[in-house]
Amino acid sequence: MNLAELWNYMLLDMEAERFGNEMRQSAKRKLLLKQTEFLKEQQAKFAKVEADIEQLAQQLDELKKEADRLNALLGEIIEQNQDVDALDADALSERMTAAERLLASLNDCEKQIENVRREAESAERSQTEIKRRAAKTKAEYDAVKKEYDVEFAQDKVKLKQLRDKAEKAAASLDKADLDRYKQIKLHCTPPMARLVNNQCTGCFMTLPVGTLREIKASNEPHTCDNCGRLLYPQD
Ligand SMILES: [Zn+2]
Repeated sequence: MNLAELWNYMLLDMEAERFGNEMRQSAKRKLLLKQTEFLKEQQAKFAKVEADIEQLAQQLDELKKEADRLNALLGEIIEQNQDVDALDADALSERMTAAERLLASLNDCEKQIENVRREAESAERSQTEIKRRAAKTKAEYDAVKKEYDVEFAQDKVKLKQLRDKAEKAAASLDKADLDRYKQIKLHCTPPMARLVNNQCTGCFMTLPVGTLREIKASNEPHTCDNCGRLLYPQD
């Protein structure tokens, strides 16, 4: 195993990886994700308010029908009472009571109509506000997206260059070595560490004397007993 070559490959591999991570951490990208989230929320809110408005409109419709019905009944009583002379006192009083009851119901109904109307107005206002906020965010999103697209296109080129450089270095490596490297990388990054002053510089554990002796005695590469990184002894 050529540790120096593998180490060199790792530096290039890590550089490409770091750059890829930086791309994902881009401030513009994060902002776009946040804005997308916000827009989704506004969409959900808008749909809910829209459903509320529809329900309130139905309520208003029903209440108006009820008011019309009560008004018609009241009209009938008034009509019948035109001929006051023909009524005796008891019948008159009965009709007056009925009329008063109807009026009270009508008042109640109108109050309800007023409440529902106010509620509907308030819902419409919040709908307008949601629309305004969403439009503002969408405009901001579009502006950031335009800038991000340029940034991303440039970064993609750079990332490809870094990856190509690493792949070029990988081409001269032994396949088994590269496989081992990749295996370690699955649970440990970076997958290699220098061995300095009997210490693994990946996890800073001092290696047992036995392991150190083995490393010195053989040409075989060793991994750290603690973190599993491939050790690169410093000359
Ligand atoms: Zn270690």
